[in-house]
Amino acid sequence: MPYIDGKRRPSREPRQVMGMQDPKVRHRNFDEVALGFTEEQARAEADRCLQCKNPTCEQGCPVNVRIRDFIGGILDDDFCGGVAALRERNALPAVCGRVCTQETQCEAACVLSKKGTPVAIGGLERFLADWDRSREPGMRCKTVAAPRNGKRVAVIGSGPSGLACAGELSLLGYGVTVYESLHTAGGVLAYGIPEFRLPKSILQDEVEALRTARVEFKFDQVVGRITNAQELLDEQGFSAIFLGTGAGLPIFLGIPGENQNGVFSANEYLTRVNLMRAYDFPKTDTPVWRGNRVVVIGGGNVAMDSARTALRLGAAEVYLVYRRTEEEMPARIEERNHAKEEGVIFKELYAPLEVVGDQGWCTGLRVQRMRLGQPDASGRRSPMPIEGEESVIECDTVISAVGTRAHHLAGKISDVKMTDRGYVEADDDGRTSNPRIFAGGDIVTGAATVILAMGAGKKAAHAIDEYVKNRPTGAKV
Ligand SMILES: Cc1cc2nc3c(=O)[nH]c(=O)nc-3n(C[C@H](O)[C@H](O)[C@H](O)COP(=O)(O)OP(=O)(O)OC[C@H]3O[C@@H](n4cnc5c(N)ncnc54)[C@H](O)[C@@H]3O)c2cc1C
Repeated sequence: MPYIDGKRRPSREPRQVMGMQDPKVRHRNFDEVALGFTEEQARAEADRCLQCKNPTCEQGCPVNVRIRDFIGGILDDDFCGGVAALRERNALPAVCGRVCTQETQCEAACVLSKKGTPVAIGGLERFLADWDRSREPGMRCKTVAAPRNGKRVAVIGSGPSGLACAGELSLLGYGVTVYESLHTAGGVLAYGIPEFRLPKSILQDEVEALRTARVEFKFDQVVGRITNAQELLDEQGFSAIFLGTGAGLPIFLGIPGENQNGVFSANEYLTRVNLMRAYDFPKTDTPVWRGNRVVVIGGGNVAMDSARTALRLGAAEVYLVYRRTEEEMPARIEERNHAKEEGVIFKELYAPLEVVGDQGWCTGLRVQRMRLGQPDASGRRSPMPIEGEESVIECDTVISAVGTRAHHLAGKISDVKMTDRGYVEADDDGRTSNPRIFAGGDIVTGAATVILAMGAGKKAAHAIDEYVKNRPTGAKV
């Protein structure tokens, strides 16, 4: 790090570029695509950070990670200090360093972004988290938790909102039990995001760190069926509940032919590959339809993940059908680029009309050519059909990745007020209509992002702490 007259001069070197697996190799394997920074790269990248007095990057982060301080740890060669600063606000740094939308959050708010090359905050976060993980378990950097306060909180759902809430409550001294309907923790991080973007071992390490912080996990527990909020509060002695059940119910387009064999929701497809380990073929022989010519409908991260997964399962051709242009696609730019590099064929300005088939098996997707008209309420230009321009993309598999919504079970867990669309009504701090029940993440906002769900879980943890400390005399808790 250059010093002139005792003052640090940040480096003006270009932003470091992370190593990637070669697209020609990676499109047929499930190994992680991005290889992370080497120590040398991490030091060089940290050296670009201005260490601003007023770190605007931190305001751009929904969990207010101490970005300046963790980068400072790398600059000062105090990696453990950096890890401590990172972990103080973020229970899942190795996850966030991989899947967060940094380009629209912390990195967008970095002063250097004005020149188009913000500090690679996500890459540095990933570097520090991985550095810590690579050490012997007994050597890892410690987090300091408050002494136990004798109170217990139940967290329903182990997605990023539930995990962040559990981690924060544990730091505040609460005993936390997480109830999860599946057999493993992580929510979408486990069953949605594929191995090549977020290896399961990394997620499990972060879950393990929560377990070490005395968070208890109960799997195969569908709350709302086997138990409900009332029982947890009144019979099992929990002081409060956090609902973080996500919005995992797939939406279909409702077009003719969608009920044929070979048509999947992205959720079903990705869950089979992730949780039933189809990515580990032939070691694990999962009953998953592989598909030779696959069409994915949608333009978000879920669509990219589905398309890239289909390639890795051996499809000869994978098409992505989107009714606007690539510019309007909600998927992260990096994910779009990775998909294209790997050979996914983007069919922009096509809208699906019908799944065509033969004796109940999908044989193609009939599509309508579109053009862009005036901007709609979302500010994006509306797709308009071009009369007479219909065609069929031949395929044996169609994967629908057009969104998800809340499962009706959310309403059976407790008596909290729901919105007309089946989401839980909660304020910014996660307070619901029931003072003992808090909620956050996709079950409140609808499908959003990992870091927003984590931010909601953390805020709710503090609202729960405030409620438990100030609960009215005579309350049952
Ligand atoms: C394929 C895919 C890729 C994505 N990629 C990205 C990305 O790259 N970056 C990003 O920021 N975001 C991404 N997202 C979005 C992000 O993952 C979600 O916004 C986030 O996971 C929401 O977190 P959550 O905690 O609210 O819910 P979830 O992650 O959905 O977790 C909810 C958990 O609750 C459990 N549950 C539900 N009902 C019950 C019940 N009754 N009892 C007990 N447990 C229950 C579920 O099994 C699940 O484990 C992606 C989403 C998908 C589907």
